[in-house]
Amino acid sequence: MAEFSIIDTYFNRPSYSSVDLGVGDDSALLTPPPQQQLVICADTLVAGRHFPIDTDPHAIGWKSVAVNLSDIAAMGAKPQSILLALSLPQIDHHWLKGFSQGLYDCCDQFGVSLIGGDTTQSPHLTLSVTALGWVDIGKAVPRSGAQAGDLICVSGTVGDAAFGLKYPDHALKKRLDYPTPRCELGQALKGLAHSMIDVSDGLAQDLGHILKASHVGADLHLDQLPLSPALQALPNQQKWQLALAGGDDYELCFTIPSPALDELKARHCDTPITVIGVVKETQQLDFYHHQQPQELELQGYQHFAKTTN
Ligand code: ADP
Ligand code: MG
Repeated sequence: MAEFSIIDTYFNRPSYSSVDLGVGDDSALLTPPPQQQLVICADTLVAGRHFPIDTDPHAIGWKSVAVNLSDIAAMGAKPQSILLALSLPQIDHHWLKGFSQGLYDCCDQFGVSLIGGDTTQSPHLTLSVTALGWVDIGKAVPRSGAQAGDLICVSGTVGDAAFGLKYPDHALKKRLDYPTPRCELGQALKGLAHSMIDVSDGLAQDLGHILKASHVGADLHLDQLPLSPALQALPNQQKWQLALAGGDDYELCFTIPSPALDELKARHCDTPITVIGVVKETQQLDFYHHQQPQELELQGYQHFAKTTN
């Protein structure tokens, strides 16, 4: 089976109506909605590095889309479409069927179209997804807007995916394999949040990116971290390790003035949100447990003030 029949068989479903021309021509065509800015990002997954080679292909398909929609959400934008660059060592129909189904399942959940891509043969299985979305001009939520006094919030629960990686037989493994991009919340935060990031490398690291970009610091309250029951049951150091340095959560972390948080709640966004701290002028991240300062030894966590990139 040649490249073209792989595309026709697995990657040529009809687009949603917002797409003028999808898979099949030399390029896709989109009409920008009036007064909107293009939001675009890409993420590459390499088999054996980003996921074990025997991972369920359906989960790989889902996750390759979900991680990109999470980046679009973290800008306060609405996702519209994706492109897929696929490098395959051989044609494995079982794998392609599961992968494409997982990819479309995630696309369909969020009204996103696969509008094009590239298919090549290569010794390593590599997937690169590019996502496109739209946001009102000038309204995207950057990492760099945090201000002293902002409340620091996180959606959902943190540390579940890391727990699932450690205990693959636990139900939380699903949080690792099938992350849910917070698309609705991201858009609801447009015009309200001062800064935002999606949590992919662990909450401490990713909050650190906001603080560094915004030239501010934060007090974080460990007793307020939103944790699933399985994590709550762990000793403190273990739960903090997973919740703050675990990664793969794909929750949104944002900073917001208190009145804007009340307004967000009035917008009836269903996503659970927890206030976990407050932004301060002093450029360091300090941890507290029941109001007491707490030293933390987190493996795999680089203190934001000491990183050079
Ligand atoms: P070209 O040679 O002009 O680059 P291709 O033969 O690579 O075109 O692709 C043919 C069409 O199929 C194009 O519209 C391209 O965007 C699309 N396409 C190729 N690979 C994929 C893929 N993995 N997923 C979705 N669309 C794809
Ligand atoms: Mg090509």
